[in-house]
Amino acid sequence: MQLTLRLTEMATGIRRCMYCGDGLGTDIDHFEPLAEAPLRAFDWPNHLLACSHCNSHQKRELFPRDEDGTSLLVDPCAEDPYEHLELVLSTGVYEALTPRGDATIRVFGLNRADLVRGRAAAFIRTISMLRDRVRLLQTDGEEATEIVTSLRDQPFADVLYAMLRYRSLPGAHLVLRGREVVDALGDPALHFWHHAGGFEPRR
Ligand SMILES: [Zn+2]
Repeated sequence: MQLTLRLTEMATGIRRCMYCGDGLGTDIDHFEPLAEAPLRAFDWPNHLLACSHCNSHQKRELFPRDEDGTSLLVDPCAEDPYEHLELVLSTGVYEALTPRGDATIRVFGLNRADLVRGRAAAFIRTISMLRDRVRLLQTDGEEATEIVTSLRDQPFADVLYAMLRYRSLPGAHLVLRGREVVDALGDPALHFWHHAGGFEPRR
């Protein structure tokens, strides 16, 4: 229980699965399966919050390694997943940038149909929430703050994370559907991963 609480503090907002970002993080996944690394049973960075689908149906005991024995799975607590994965915002599909990204997509089923649809919908929703926030900042600070909370707690927070990363790339306004959205993403209130001990999106 105590461990679950610590992991909850690390995840931003509502405790969601650290793999799919959709389901609630109800299970504790041993990132490196205990069968392979019994000494890591009490090593807390080896424990990640996962939904029961990702934990029991997708990852199970899978833990692919390269020839040197190094894990092929990207550890979302210890490294930046976006070094290995790219989210295509308009479709909600993850593309692999490296062999480790490819293994991660496969093992966690990151491109299963429900997740892809959910991310594409989250992209549209996030754009309209950002536009609303810009408008509300002029008139109602409280409602503008509620939008930030809602963005943090919504499923598929990885979509906002990807948008924050893309905002400084050339042509970002084309991908992000307008300069107003690009500017809204510059708002420091949205950069909550930094405070949660996660990775600040690269600028
Ligand atoms: Zn999950």
